[in-house]
Parts: sequence; structure tokens; C-alpha cells
Amino acid sequence: MKKILNFGSLNMDFVYAVAHTVRGGETEASLGLQVFPGGKGLNQSIAAARAGLSVFHAGLVGEDGGLLLDTLKADGVDTRFVGTVPGRSGHTIIQVDENAQNAILLFGGANRAVTPAYADEVLAHFSAGDIVLLQNEISAVPHILRRAAEAGLSVWFNPSPMDDGARACDLSLVSVFLLNEIEGEQLTGTAEPGAILDRMAEKYPQAAVVLTLGAAGAWYAKAGARAFCPAEKAEAVDTTAAGDTFTGYFLRGMLDGRTPEEALRLAARASAIAVSRPGASPSIPRFSEVERGL
Ligand code: ATP
Repeated sequence: MKKILNFGSLNMDFVYAVAHTVRGGETEASLGLQVFPGGKGLNQSIAAARAGLSVFHAGLVGEDGGLLLDTLKADGVDTRFVGTVPGRSGHTIIQVDENAQNAILLFGGANRAVTPAYADEVLAHFSAGDIVLLQNEISAVPHILRRAAEAGLSVWFNPSPMDDGARACDLSLVSVFLLNEIEGEQLTGTAEPGAILDRMAEKYPQAAVVLTLGAAGAWYAKAGARAFCPAEKAEAVDTTAAGDTFTGYFLRGMLDGRTPEEALRLAARASAIAVSRPGASPSIPRFSEVERGL
């Protein structure tokens, strides 16, 4: 059976309610604090696990990483490859003001301590035909992508956030791109979805592309064939982790042997549920709930 490895970030999000975002030289008392486990890596592992897949997570936490490990384990994610390094886990300090505008300070922490040597140790446990899911919130992504592809793994890549690290990757080795509109534009220099898919097919003819467009739906394209799925109607409360939910469920759909159209529909259903609830990973639905709505 194919094994699924998600090599990704693990973050603590400290969300402070503030009257206004604190300015340079200013001290402001916050109105409240909520602490959430997060990071695109953690969210996508939880999404895939709630979609019913067996997932191995790889990545690094600091000495304060107990809650991050417990969060993954609570959803049945296999954490045997998650390492602990001296220092602190990745975290964000997020100020949310009265108008729901946020300001985010990111500390990469242990996520930036991922080395090629650690990646190779993990990848040695996987082989041709297995799947590696990657985002761009950890260090050594170009190395992981190359080594995984050389070992015959299928590389599913979500180049978020797009930066020089993502640009340094050999994207001709990617099997499936998972993009939102912004990343699609950053990779192709064009904003119109059809043109993004055309350009992606020219640049990376080997790859399938999933392009999500928020409330405007999602595309799948591979080798000239295209499928579109509209978003489901939802009362959007909090769209955080919509894309991560989509990824986990699309992966499940494709591994079930469903058609791309059916896999998109499953993913759209799951992410419509996720946007209708507050929070990131807590908003991700379980498979039984998603199936009921189909
Ligand atoms: P995020 O970074 O917040 O996780 P994203 O930018 O990666 O999200 P989007 O393209 O915004 O991803 O959304 C992914 C999918 O989630 C969409 O294709 C759609 O199916 C669903 N979705 C997003 N927003 C809405 C919405 N307002 N109503 C219904 N479905 C939505």
C-alpha cells in the first residue's frame, strides 16, 4: 500500500485580541489571548487524517512541542518521524484588531532547523510509489523535493508561502501542484485561471495542477484534460485552513480512485464545512460528516 508522508511545519499560533495593532515604541494591553496549534503542515496532516488516510508527519518541534505532538496524535497522525530540537517550536504572534484586521509576526523556530541530513533519514523509510506532501514553511524544501522525486515518490507540492526557497526548487520534479490564485499568479505571471493552467501546462507538462479560487471554486488540470468544481454555498465564518482541508480531501478522493471531478467535489464539500466554522484545524470536518452531505 502507498504510504503518505507529510513533511511540514508545526506551529503554535498565539492570537491576541487588541483594540488596535501595536505601533513602534508603543505598549498596549491586549484584550485576550487564544493559543492554537497550527502551521500548514499540521493542518494538512490533520485534514488528511480526518479524511480517513493514514498519514506520517515529519518535521521538527522545539522543547515546547508537546502540544503539537499531542494534537497530531489525537487525530491518529503517525508522529514517529517528528524530531525534537533544542530551542522553541515555530510560532506566530497574531494581533487581531476590532475590525478583524490582523498583523502577524512569525518565528520559524524548529521549522527552520530541518536539515538535508534529517530529511534523508526520514525519506529512507519511504520508497517508490509513496506520496510526499510538501508546503514551503520549513527549511530544506528544495532538498526534500529533489530527494523524494529521485527515490520515486510522488511529490504533491503546495508552494505556500511563495519565496526564494520555493523558487529554488526544481519544479519539474513535482507530480501535483496545489495552488491558490495568488500562488498560481506568482508561478506564471498571469492572474486569469485559464491562463494560469495554460502556462503551468507549458512549464510543467509532467504535473497535474489543482488551482483553488476561494468561493469561486477549483480547477484540476492534467495533460490537456480539465475539470472544474464550483464551491459549495457556505456561510463563511473563518476561511483559515480552507485550502488545507481541500488538500487533505482531494488527496483522499484521488487515492480512492475517484475521478478528478469527484475528488474536487469531495474536497469542495469538506472545505465548505471548514469555512462555516471558526478556527483552523478545529474547523476541519471528519469524513463521515463530509460524506453525509454529498
Ligand atoms: P487558506 O490559505 O485560507 O487555507 P487557500 O487560499 O489556500 O485558503 P482557497 O482557494 O481560498 O484556498 O479555498 C480552497 C477551497 O475552499 C475553495 O476551492 C472552495 O472549495 C472552498 N472555499 C473557500 N472559501 C469558500 C467560501 N467562502 N464558501 C465556500 N467554499 C469556500
